[in-house]
Amino acid sequence: MKAEPAVQRRLLDLAEVDGELNRLAHRRRTLPEHAQLAEAETAVRTAKDKLVAVETSAGDLDRDIRRLERDIEGVRARAERDNKMLAGAGVGARQATELQHELETLARRQTVLEDEQLEVMEQREALGVDVEHSRGVLAQAEKAVGEIVERRDTAIADIDASEGGRRRDREQIAVNLPADLLVLYDKRREQRGTGAAALVQRRCQACRLELDRTALAELRAAPPDEVVYCEECGVILVRTPESGL
Ligand SMILES: [Zn+2]
Repeated sequence: MKAEPAVQRRLLDLAEVDGELNRLAHRRRTLPEHAQLAEAETAVRTAKDKLVAVETSAGDLDRDIRRLERDIEGVRARAERDNKMLAGAGVGARQATELQHELETLARRQTVLEDEQLEVMEQREALGVDVEHSRGVLAQAEKAVGEIVERRDTAIADIDASEGGRRRDREQIAVNLPADLLVLYDKRREQRGTGAAALVQRRCQACRLELDRTALAELRAAPPDEVVYCEECGVILVRTPESGL
């Protein structure tokens, strides 16, 4: 392919812009916020699981407390009924003894139930502290996610803006290049990551390798408007006064 040396040199401007676009794409992919976010989201899931676990335990204890309350109420009601019967008229001696005996049993039962209820209420109180603590941990973890998302979005907006600018630069350069040369450049860029590079002091600026004698002789022999390539990395090699040929 043929292209005037001045036109070939414009490929270097294009390569510089494309290099910046590559760096921006790399920065977008490797933002530290991506890994931070994954970690923070794991922390949120862990905190949620923990909260659900302590809330479930607290709910179980609440149910136990209500059950004990009902049992205690039942015992109290029964004792009240027995006391009324005892106080009432027409209770025989034998029945009175049975009632007394039952009242003693009921009193013991009530004490056992109340002790148990007290114990469960203490457990529930301690668990209440755990629930509050777990809510706090979850809130913190969610806040951390929010902050990371905000930082990530700011960084991405910054990259978007830079990318937009570079794309406009690219269009301005590309519009002044022959279509076939641009196709050739883009194909090389797709395959190799870089489309064109300058030859400076016999060194390709894409792969940084110094060309050997044979390659240099070939370049010297090639007409200035001949499009040539780096034999090492395959990019379009643009000759300049600094090429050292
Ligand atoms: Zn090269």
